[in-house]
Amino acid sequence: MAEKTLFQKIADREIPAELLYEDPLAVAFRDLNPAAPTHVLVVPRQPIPRADAIEEGDEKLVGHLFTVARRIAEKEGLTDYRLVMNCGEGAGQSVFHLHLHVLGGRPFSWPPG
Ligand code: AMP
Repeated sequence: MAEKTLFQKIADREIPAELLYEDPLAVAFRDLNPAAPTHVLVVPRQPIPRADAIEEGDEKLVGHLFTVARRIAEKEGLTDYRLVMNCGEGAGQSVFHLHLHVLGGRPFSWPPG
């Protein structure tokens, strides 16, 4: 069996993290190095490595991540926030287990750096 990813270990509570939300499909926890006053990662339990590995059968799961992100934003009192999914090292991805960043609590510029 493939070695668990860092985020699988967090979802399975083998590595500590502040879990804000969990259900059978996904978990959400605070980013260790927050880039904004609120910085939460929404992570599917299924270890899809990156956005370009999403398959047609994953559509419901990936859609669910956005519903969880909305719940997190509501819970954190965010009205304006940014959702980010980096795909590949060149785009800033460092953990190769799909995740949606929920960032809020400060203004954001566009285009991103
Ligand atoms: P990305 O760079 O898009 O792959 O995002 C990975 C994120 O995971 C980064 O923002 C890291 O700060 C965060 N991260 C890495 N290790 C941990 C950890 N043990 N607990 C929480 N967040 C982490």
